Amino acid sequence: MLGATATCGVHAQALSGAMPSGMMVFTPEEVRIEAGCSSPRVERLADGVVIPIATICDPSTWKTVSSPTVACKGRTIDVLGVRFRGSEVIVVAESLTLTERYFHVRLLTSLEDAHGPLAQVDEVSRIHWCTDEASATTAQVVLPPDSCREARQFAAAFDYRTPLSNRILTNGFSFYVRMAGEPPAHFDVPGASDDLRSSFGTALTIWMSALQDNDDLLTPAVRAFVAGRTYKSTGGYSMLLPPQVVRLSCPHAATFIVEFNFGAGDTFPTTLGTLMLARARLEGRTIALNLRDVDCFRNMLRFDNSKRLALRDDRCVNLLPVLTHELGHAFGMDHIPESAGTALMNSQLSERGTVPTRLDVAAFVATLARSITGAAPGALEFRASEGLLAPKDWVPSPSRSLGRVSALK
Ligand SMILES: [Zn+2]
Repeated sequence: MLGATATCGVHAQALSGAMPSGMMVFTPEEVRIEAGCSSPRVERLADGVVIPIATICDPSTWKTVSSPTVACKGRTIDVLGVRFRGSEVIVVAESLTLTERYFHVRLLTSLEDAHGPLAQVDEVSRIHWCTDEASATTAQVVLPPDSCREARQFAAAFDYRTPLSNRILTNGFSFYVRMAGEPPAHFDVPGASDDLRSSFGTALTIWMSALQDNDDLLTPAVRAFVAGRTYKSTGGYSMLLPPQVVRLSCPHAATFIVEFNFGAGDTFPTTLGTLMLARARLEGRTIALNLRDVDCFRNMLRFDNSKRLALRDDRCVNLLPVLTHELGHAFGMDHIPESAGTALMNSQLSERGTVPTRLDVAAFVATLARSITGAAPGALEFRASEGLLAPKDWVPSPSRSLGRVSALK
C-alpha cells in the first residue's frame, strides 16, 4: 500500500492516538500545548527535563536530572520517558499525546500504541536511551491496569485533519466496535467487524463519488476538497482516494464507535410492525446496528442495471446502504421527507434509494459547509426521527411478534 501510492505523492502515516482535539503533544524535541494552560505554547525540551503533568503549566516546577553515564555500545537517542502513577518504571516512547480524557503513547520498543485515562500519567521526561538496552529494564513497558495496548496501524493518506467546516469529516476515520448485549453463539464477531471495516470505507467512497458525479451542486470548498483527494498521473489517469478507514482494537483513539446491539437498552423500539435497522447520533460519531431483529448485516457491493444496490440476500441485510445512510446522519444530515422525492436519506430504506440521489447530494453539500464539531464517539443519544426503517414488506404481521428479517420473505 505504501509503495504503490508513494509515486502519486500520497504520504503514508502511522496512526497514533493523535486526535483532532489533542491538547498536549510531546516529542523528544518539544511539548506543544494547544489547550489546558492559559494560552497555547511550544516549549523546547532540554536534556534530563522531568515534567510533572499536574503542574505542567508552571515551568518553574519542571525539574532537571542528569542521566547516569552508561557505556553504550549501540546508538544513543533522545526519547521520551513516561512514568505512570504508582510505578517506578519509565516507559520509553516516541511521542505522547494528552487529550481531555486520555493519554496516547507511541511505544518506542514495539510497533504498538497504548491508551488510557489521562490521570494515570504522572511525569514525562526527556532521556538518553541506548539502543543496547532494548531487552533491558529500561525497555520494560508497564502500563496502568486500565489501559489498552494495540498494534500500530499504517494507512496511506490518512490523517485526522478536517478539510472543511464540518469537523466530523476528516481525512481518515478510525472506528471501534462496541458490543451491547450478548451476541448469539453462532455470531461471527471478527468476521462481522472485518465486513464493517470494508463497508465503512465503501460507504465513504459512495458519498465521495456522489459528490464527484454532481459537480454542478458543489460549492467551491467542497469541489476543492474532492479535487484534493483525486490523484492524477501524467498519463491522464485519475484516482479518487476517499478518506481511509482503520479499525482499532482500543476505543480511546477511535473517531467513531459502531455498536453491535443485540438487544441491550432501548436503542431499538419493539413496536409491533416497526423494524428499525440502525440508528446514528445526529452530528456525532456513533452508529448502532440492530442485531436483535436482524440476523446479520453484510457488505454486498453489487449494482444492478440502474446502479442500485441489493437491499438483502436471503439471509443478511446489505450493510452498504444502511451504513451510508447512517454516516449521512453522523455528518449532520436529517431525513429527507418521502414527499420531497426518493433519497438515501428517506426515513425508510427503499430499493430506489440505495445510493445518494441528487437530493441527498444537495443536502450533503449544505451539511459539509456548516460548522459542526459534533458529539464525542460513543455518545448514544438519539433523536426520535433518526432510525432507519426497513421496507414495509419486511415487517411481520401484527399478529406475530417482531421476527427476524431472515424469517421474512
Ligand atoms: Zn435515518
